[in-house]
Amino acid sequence: MQQEYFGLYLKNVKKVKEATQEHYFQSLRKITALLREVGYPDIESLYDVDSYSQLQEIKQALKEDPGFVALDERGHRMYSAGFNRYMEFAEGKDFLMHPSSLSLIDCPCPVKQPSLMKQTFHPSRDRIMVRQVFQASEYHCEINTGHKTFLAQASGRQYVEGHHLIPLEVQPEIVSSLDVYANIITLCPTCHRFLHFGMQSDKEKVLSQLFETRQDRLNDSGIKLGKKEFLELVEPTKAYAG
Ligand SMILES: [Zn+2]
Ligand SMILES: [Zn+2]
Repeated sequence: MQQEYFGLYLKNVKKVKEATQEHYFQSLRKITALLREVGYPDIESLYDVDSYSQLQEIKQALKEDPGFVALDERGHRMYSAGFNRYMEFAEGKDFLMHPSSLSLIDCPCPVKQPSLMKQTFHPSRDRIMVRQVFQASEYHCEINTGHKTFLAQASGRQYVEGHHLIPLEVQPEIVSSLDVYANIITLCPTCHRFLHFGMQSDKEKVLSQLFETRQDRLNDSGIKLGKKEFLELVEPTKAYAG
């Protein structure tokens, strides 16, 4: 999936020419083939790496590998250029500068295997996708951008958490993947706990507002729901009047 997002990023956000996109893809295919040699035999594709810190480790390992350095020199640094573009995408600075640009890469994604879904039930802060969502929200709580927390050691930014607006538990009821940018929101820790443990009667208004801000993007991601359906999915034990 990350591969498709990267392609849309190059095309829609960076407006990179098709021939150049192809060069980047080619570089990343080559790097994927080299992962075994630089100490990552279990990774099938670079695009499967969903941890930002692991991507940084791979970057370092490539830099220190004489075989890769020689290949890159012969290729006029085409391989490191491709990898750096991918790092730039994963880092998400473009989304911080232009928050609405993340919506330019929304697209429907196929549902992952259930075993993979379990791991990502709570979106981890180290995940590339979550990091990109944080950048697009400028590390502010999406329920109230005024909510203040504290500076996180790892990012140097305000501490926030990622949350799936529509929980992955209800994935069987939805054709497209729920683990997409449009369904991941940034919250302060208090609001995050509130959405998981708060009173249903108090949550309805907040959930409705969050849904309104994301409805179009969810739609672009193949998750086509009205507000009533959304509320019934998210809070299934309560019957909503509409
Ligand atoms: Zn959550
Ligand atoms: Zn908050």
